[in-house]
Amino acid sequence: MAAANRLLRARARGSSLSSMAAYVRSLSSAVFSESDLRVPSSLPHKPLSFRRDPKDRNVQWVFLGCPGVGKGTYASRLSNLLGVPHIATGDLVREELSSSGPLSQQLAEIVNQGKLVSDEIIIRLLSQRLEAGEAKGESGFILDGFPRTIRQAEILEEVTDIDLVINLKLREDVLLEKCLGRRICSQCGGNFNVASIDIKGENGSPGMYMAPLLPPPRCASKLITRSDDTEEVVKERLRVYNEMSQPVEGFYRSRGKLMEFDLPGGIPESWPKLLQALNLDDHDDKQSAAA
Ligand SMILES: [Zn+2]
Repeated sequence: MAAANRLLRARARGSSLSSMAAYVRSLSSAVFSESDLRVPSSLPHKPLSFRRDPKDRNVQWVFLGCPGVGKGTYASRLSNLLGVPHIATGDLVREELSSSGPLSQQLAEIVNQGKLVSDEIIIRLLSQRLEAGEAKGESGFILDGFPRTIRQAEILEEVTDIDLVINLKLREDVLLEKCLGRRICSQCGGNFNVASIDIKGENGSPGMYMAPLLPPPRCASKLITRSDDTEEVVKERLRVYNEMSQPVEGFYRSRGKLMEFDLPGGIPESWPKLLQALNLDDHDDKQSAAA
């Protein structure tokens, strides 16, 4: 029911996206010249802190979770269910890198040097994405990979309301194994996972089962492992993530917006429980039940 209502609300266009875009434009103009911004001149300049009644718009959620936890998968499924875009800042960076946009060369240098992409660049990419989405009639979002720092969280809070921040968690031994099991098809770019998790419950703690995500036969002989998916690098990545994310988690916890969700297993085990925790029905299940 909640999902259906939200889908209906998706018809109403929110203005908070453009107000965010306008705000970040004002921030980034200090860093970038106006000509870099590529803002469509047809977009009206709207008030900076206009906030639409949550009843008149769709969800505005944030997904947090360490690399390898599968947050992209869950965010993407929820975005389909709720009819809002799943906006992953990692995708925005990759798209810009593969384009000939004004930031692509600057980004390539940063990434090649193994540096972190700055708040300003991330915010600019997100701003471009939200403006493009608003032009298409989007009225909500699920953010994935943003905000990553307190400063980004503060910028977001200045201009729009985040309803809920979902922090996906997975026990660290399982997470490590899943990260080491990642494979990419060198031909089609498909993502797979050869790790098979089957932990027996003991001393009252529940077991955990996560099936591997095996490639179709056409990809099986073309699998490669990312060079940075080694145990040492993965552990360091998790350490850095935890250090960075804790302040952001604290930021939202103190505002009563953080929902901690411990993944109980793979997608078949976790998806129904996540929906339950979010008080959502699976639209597809309902449709097929009604048919
Ligand atoms: Zn393939």
